[in-house]
This record gives sequence, C-alpha cells and structure tokens, in this order.
Amino acid sequence: MKYIDEFRDGELAKGLAAAIAAAARPERQYAFMEFCGGHTHAISRHGVTDLLPANVRMVHGPGCPVCVLPIGRIDMAIRLALEHRAILCSYGDCLRVPASGGLSLLKAKSHGGDVRMVYSPADALEIARENPARQVVFFAIGFETTTPPSAVVIKQAAALGVKNFSVLCCHVLTPSAIMSILESPEVRRWGTVPLDGFVGPAHVSTVIGSRPYEFFAAEYRKPVVIAGFEPLDVMQAILMLIRQVNEGRCQVENEFTRAVTREGNRKAQDLVAEVFELRRSFEWRGMGTIPYSALAIRQAFADFDAERRFALEYHPVPDHKACDCGAILRGVKEPRDCKLFGSVCTPENPIGSCMVSSEGACAAYYTYGRHREGGAG
Ligand code: SF4
Repeated sequence: MKYIDEFRDGELAKGLAAAIAAAARPERQYAFMEFCGGHTHAISRHGVTDLLPANVRMVHGPGCPVCVLPIGRIDMAIRLALEHRAILCSYGDCLRVPASGGLSLLKAKSHGGDVRMVYSPADALEIARENPARQVVFFAIGFETTTPPSAVVIKQAAALGVKNFSVLCCHVLTPSAIMSILESPEVRRWGTVPLDGFVGPAHVSTVIGSRPYEFFAAEYRKPVVIAGFEPLDVMQAILMLIRQVNEGRCQVENEFTRAVTREGNRKAQDLVAEVFELRRSFEWRGMGTIPYSALAIRQAFADFDAERRFALEYHPVPDHKACDCGAILRGVKEPRDCKLFGSVCTPENPIGSCMVSSEGACAAYYTYGRHREGGAG
C-alpha cells in the first residue's frame, strides 16, 4: 500500500477485524497499551475499538506530550512572560493547559504577557532576530520527535551569535515513561493494569528506531509492535500482538517499516546528543518524578538555557484534586471514570491536561466517543 486512503479502507478494515476475531482466543482477555497520543486519537476518531472483539481491550498510555507536562513547568513559562517580560514562544497545544492560580499561557497573555504561538523552534529564533532588544524564549516540549528541531535551533543560535534567545527545555523520553508504567513506586499507589503488550509509537520511533524497545520485550516479557498512525496500521499491530501473545513470544516487531528502522535516524540522534544531556530527574504530570526521563541543555550551550539565564527554579504543583489524569495516563482508569469528564471538564474548559490536546485521552473520548452508548474510546 502506498497511499493514505488505503490505510483507511473500510473493506480492508473488515478483513483485518475478522482476522483479529479469529486470532483472539475466546477463553482469554487481551489488554494492549497504545503508548502514543497519536494512536489514541486515531483509535477514537476511526472507531477502531468498535471493530475489536470484547476480549481485546485497548488501554491509553502517557504518550501525549502536552498531557504529561507538569503544572510547575507551565508556571515557569508563565513567569518568563509575566515577571521577566520575555517573549514566550510556544506550540499552540500548550497555550490552554491549566497552570497555577487559574492561569494558563493564554490567560497570561490576557494579563499582558507577550505569549506567541509558533509552529516550529525556527519561528522563535526568527522572532528573536527581529526583536534584538527583547529576550525571546522557546518553550520546548515533546518526546523524541520534537527534540531534534530544538537541537538544530540552539546550534543555529550559537552559530549566529544570537544573544537574546534561549530555550526552556522540557523534552522527555519515551522508554523512561514505559519503564515507569511497568515498575515505578507510583504503580503501587495508583494500582496497575495487566498489560499484554504495547503498540509502539510511530513518529518517536522514526528517530530512536525500534531497538530501544527490545529491552522491554526481553526484560519485562512484553511484546511491542511499532505501528503507523492510520487505523489499518493500528489494527494490523493489534493482530500482530495477539499472535505474539498466543505463541508466547515477546519480541519487538515493526508494522511501520515504511518509516521506522531498527537503528532510527542516526544523524538526529547525534545532534540531540551533542546539544542535550540526561536530566537526573523530571516530574511528569500525573506520573510523579521519573529519574533520567528527560533532557537538559548541555553546559556547552548554557547561554541558550532559559533555566540558567533567568535563574528559574522548579516548584512542583499538585493537580486538581478531582482530576484523574494521573490514573488515566497510567491506563488505570478511563476518561469516563472521572467525575468531571464532560460536565465541569470539557475541551473548551479543561481542568486537567488530558482534555487539552487532541491527542489527550479525555479530549479524544469527548470528541469522538462520548455520545456513543457504552461508547468506546
Ligand atoms: S476529564 Fe478532565 S479532570 Fe477528568 S481526568 Fe480528564 S482532564 Fe482530568
């Protein structure tokens, strides 16, 4: 198959659904976590769970970059705009995420902060070059997919000698999050879900390759199938996972061979390693503090590190008491289990982060599944 439409073809989907139903053994239950918010969105949007037998359950994971950004980090960005009077450049998805004191970046803008939406880090560097008298900060969030462009722009700023540009680095790492789901102390607090395997991320894997997941397959006995973002990709991955479970195999398989290799993109990996280093610890929204799960800017590029330039300190802030984002991000609860879902908390008035981005589980449920009886995600 060469074109997107073929990966959404209804007849092919029916065929795959029949193959899944034939492969799933009626005497057992299957639970697979789709780690990535893009998969959650695709599954909800295309009603993939409606095509699965009742004993095959999809569990949403923490792979939405906006959802896992803790309140304390958004507070830092807001302080840059309101107290340090910097031009704060952010991807659009972050603007409405609730922060402390009833604020968000968008509300900080209405309080006089110069907050600007950008489509890429390069846009932020351009704004810095156009405004030499102002400090300009790029709010860098996301998993391994968005990290290489941040590295590129820091190197460019260094090469050009731009003095008024810096990056608030909040990049996080996928393998650490998967490991945390499988074994962190919070699992004991939140409880855990029995997982039979993972649908591995698509875009992230184009950068890091499939090799980092081999550890999970071997060490935790969990099969991983890396899948593209189209509905047929996800269904094919589910079929491959069911077959592994049935055969007692725990391997990394790659459904997304049109974009992912075992080694990934070496050039991007080298670039990231040149500019960033591992952070000792980083707090994830709803998942607690995870050691070595995020990146910081290396000393060699310290001039472009907003945390050092503005002597910013991180203060952890608890989530809204009634918000179940933490349990949802770990796959322990579903959005409908949250008392605020669809009443107090909606995409127009998000209380927690999972309701903000279209990749968040609550937003995906609300947009595509909420009105369906017994609706699936
Ligand atoms: S519905 Fe809203 S408050 Fe409840 S878990 Fe989702 S984002 Fe949090």
